Amino acid sequence: MTMSGQKNLQRQLSWTPTRVEGLLGLERFFQHGLNSYGQNRNYDYGSEDRSNVSLLSPWIKHRLISEPEILSIILHEYSLKEADKYIQQVVWRTYFKGWLEHRPSVWASYKIELARALDVLAQDAIILKTYETALSGRSGIDCFDHWLQELQTTGYIHNHARLWFASIWIFTFRLPWQLGANLFMSLLLDGDIASNTLSWRWVAGLHTPGKFYQATSENIAKFTNERFAKTHGLTVKATSLEETMAHPLTPLKFAPLEVNDDYLLLVTEDDCSPEVYIDSAPAVTLGLLVSSDKGFLKQSSGVRGFSQGAVQDAVERTRLGGVVLQVDDWLEPVLTAAGDNRLKTVVTPYAPVGPIADHLDLLEAALAPHGIELLQVRRGYDTNSWPYATKGFFAFKKNLPIILGSL
Ligand SMILES: Cc1cc2nc3c(=O)[nH]c(=O)nc-3n(C[C@H](O)[C@H](O)[C@H](O)COP(=O)(O)OP(=O)(O)OC[C@H]3O[C@@H](n4cnc5c(N)ncnc54)[C@H](O)[C@@H]3O)c2cc1C
Repeated sequence: MTMSGQKNLQRQLSWTPTRVEGLLGLERFFQHGLNSYGQNRNYDYGSEDRSNVSLLSPWIKHRLISEPEILSIILHEYSLKEADKYIQQVVWRTYFKGWLEHRPSVWASYKIELARALDVLAQDAIILKTYETALSGRSGIDCFDHWLQELQTTGYIHNHARLWFASIWIFTFRLPWQLGANLFMSLLLDGDIASNTLSWRWVAGLHTPGKFYQATSENIAKFTNERFAKTHGLTVKATSLEETMAHPLTPLKFAPLEVNDDYLLLVTEDDCSPEVYIDSAPAVTLGLLVSSDKGFLKQSSGVRGFSQGAVQDAVERTRLGGVVLQVDDWLEPVLTAAGDNRLKTVVTPYAPVGPIADHLDLLEAALAPHGIELLQVRRGYDTNSWPYATKGFFAFKKNLPIILGSL
């Protein structure tokens, strides 16, 4: 194992959900991994050596560090040529977030189809058996069992392993993709509704209709550095999944960029660095986490712990401190905190399509009769970049000079 491999392993075994740790991780990666990232990033050397990727996704997911910050540092310290591949990967996330904002029906239908797939498990003994075998650790496909175990023990697997895993799940086991996506959401420390749902759809051939991802034994052998030299039993005749439902392009929601009144700051797991772009200081801070997703698999304790720690870190950084709660009903704690401090404005970072946005929609409606306004403030970077995420990634990427220019 290389020296940098050892450093990365140490980090991976102690994911610390603070902004400081995210910034340190970024610095370490820029010093040791950025130069060779373009050549090596596709290799999955195993959890003992992750020196070829940045491992920053759990921090980026919670926006303990964010895409605009990373891109600004890169543009300041490196040439576009040196950092080209890394920039592209970072903006894949921006693209997916923007694309889902334009098509919220993908999230709505995912929830319905997931509930249906869970019902099918309860009713169809054959599908249930395939599902249980896939999750048993003895599926008959060694690499798949290995990635599952790695996911369960570390909360992370390499991008290429995610592609192979999803492809085997969909095309070899023929299991509903929504169950696989939900499994990832329950175990990945970086589990993100846009990146995860849209990546699973991409593998299945739904994101770019007709274009799907097929895992092959040769590709797995090459990019695992022959750790899995021969994989038997993979489907060779996969065909793209299809869907009947259309997902119309919806205009982006309006969101302000700044606040003027005294306010209660509500921190959620979707953005744990509000102080970076909301200039005025809050009167009081409250952190809220979703306690459970009904009908969905529960998140692992590692996933919950990282999100809880990230929100706690954000609340502590406001210097006012504040309570962090994990509850289903967000109205009562917000009403209490706002009432105690005689505040009529609650400000929270804009939550993109997903469970937090669902909670905030309910909260906004419930606060209105109390004369309290909920403002979701959006980062300028999101407002500037999301409008370009209406079609495919390559169309989005053409606008990269404008997006980077706006930093
Ligand atoms: C089936 C599947 C599910 C996925 N689920 C998630 C998820 O829930 N959350 C998530 O953040 N990523 C997801 N990804 C994308 C990607 O695998 C991870 O972002 C990446 O492996 C994280 O490791 P890293 O931080 O070392 O990445 P690096 O290679 O160092 O990349 C730097 C950053 O760029 C972003 N990024 C890189 N590749 C992608 C990509 N393909 N799509 C979107 N963003 C990317 C991430 O924020 C990442 O941290 C998924 C990919 C697949 C194929």
